[in-house]
Amino acid sequence: MVYHSTRNSALCVSSAEAIAQGIAADGGLFVPASIPELSPADFDSLKGLSYAERAARLFKLYLTDFSDEELRECTKNAYESGNFETPNVQEIAKLADGSMLLELWHGPTCAFKDMALQILPHFLTRSVRKAGIDREVVILTATSGDTGKAALAGFRDVPGTRIMVFYPEDGVSSMQKRQMQTQEGKNVRVCAVKGNFDDCQNGVKAIFTDPEMQKALAQNGMQFSSANSINWGRLVPQIVYYVSAYVTMMEQGILENGQRFSLTVPTGNFGNILAAWYAKQMGVPIGHLVCASNINKVLSDFIATGVYDRNRDFHATVSPSMDILISSNLERLLYHMTHGDDAQIREWFGALKTEGRYEIPTELLHRIQAEFSGAFYDDAATKAMIGKVFAENGYLSDTHTAVGICAARAYQETASEKNPMLIASTANPYKFGAAVLEAIGGSVSDADEYTVLDRLQEKSGMQIPKALAELKTKTVRFTDSVAQDEMPAYVKQQLGI
Ligand SMILES: *Cc1c(COP(=O)(O)O)cnc(C)c1O
Repeated sequence: MVYHSTRNSALCVSSAEAIAQGIAADGGLFVPASIPELSPADFDSLKGLSYAERAARLFKLYLTDFSDEELRECTKNAYESGNFETPNVQEIAKLADGSMLLELWHGPTCAFKDMALQILPHFLTRSVRKAGIDREVVILTATSGDTGKAALAGFRDVPGTRIMVFYPEDGVSSMQKRQMQTQEGKNVRVCAVKGNFDDCQNGVKAIFTDPEMQKALAQNGMQFSSANSINWGRLVPQIVYYVSAYVTMMEQGILENGQRFSLTVPTGNFGNILAAWYAKQMGVPIGHLVCASNINKVLSDFIATGVYDRNRDFHATVSPSMDILISSNLERLLYHMTHGDDAQIREWFGALKTEGRYEIPTELLHRIQAEFSGAFYDDAATKAMIGKVFAENGYLSDTHTAVGICAARAYQETASEKNPMLIASTANPYKFGAAVLEAIGGSVSDADEYTVLDRLQEKSGMQIPKALAELKTKTVRFTDSVAQDEMPAYVKQQLGI
């Protein structure tokens, strides 16, 4: 399998090179030249296997320059060494209304990002060797809260790597901030940015593609890579969990082989839902994809109108990991859906950069609408849904997942088909404890983030995750804060170059 850049179809790199580089030098994203397809018998053959075994088989389809043994070693390290609190790695919970939640947050940092970031360091260190790169890899990451911590946990003290994370100073939950500021490890750095997630992401992208910066790194035996979902190595593990969820639903007798189901994904950077779209192209019988947003609804507007317009106010919400106005991975979808029209992609994403806006033709919009619908919900609706789901099921959902549940229920009320609905559940509710506690009728007054955990446990009966409870005794190590235009200098200073 070779990979092209979304901005240059003539560029061909191996999977190892795509992962090692993270983003193409022209600013495009790496995409597979074709999408492998699985037959009903192939899906049957994945039954009875552990998550790690399934993952190794599926990785083989995309990461063709890795051997079976290497991939098995990677999945063993990531998914079978006790880093996930459930042996199944992911779990499916059923709600009284018949819908199902795909819980992807049983990893060490309590959000779905662990599913990919527990394995990415293993891919990356092997990719670097395969690509013949004899340099230290500097992982530069912009985070809306969850990627940062998951990447820090994954790359902590991994030989040959350093990691630097930038997060929006006032744009993450207090628990997310704690998780990052207390990160241990010799090769980690964390810094706040005076701005929002888009400022962090733009700052990081600019550093990546700055030839001056690349030269300075090369002279010091270093090179950049990315742990954001712009890195193909992040997306493949996410494709895997949708395939695996389908197989599990068959094993549990919820679905027949080939039976369609709908899927709702709470979305920010469009990575998680794009992974679901790839799984669908591979043959997972996903009927309709519902893209759920908070009031930063640039995606649901795009799906409704074909106009992507980031020129709008940015809102801080109770689902901060979706407070994003530039959804990077949409570029990959548009590349595939225009059959690899790289000139068109350059034009649209050039316009996004200079004017903050682009518009796709009606014909393409209709094809997108045939597969996706969008919906958005504000904080009040999100909290009301957390309260409702708790009252109906005794089940505690996080804020992002609740946005998804809102969108899933609205879709099912109007849909002509009655396919079973699976909703991606993206974080442990304790990560966004204050909003969740209020949503189920608790009080957050006079409560620091740890008191909130205790109150939530008392009220809900759900166990506080150990990874969050133990933060209380950890030292805060990182309190630096910079403006977006100070990021390049900060990176240089921290790297000592
Ligand atoms: C990252 C994140 C999202 C959004 O996922 P994308 O891949 O950026 O669309 C949703 N919920 C949570 C909890 C997240 O951490």
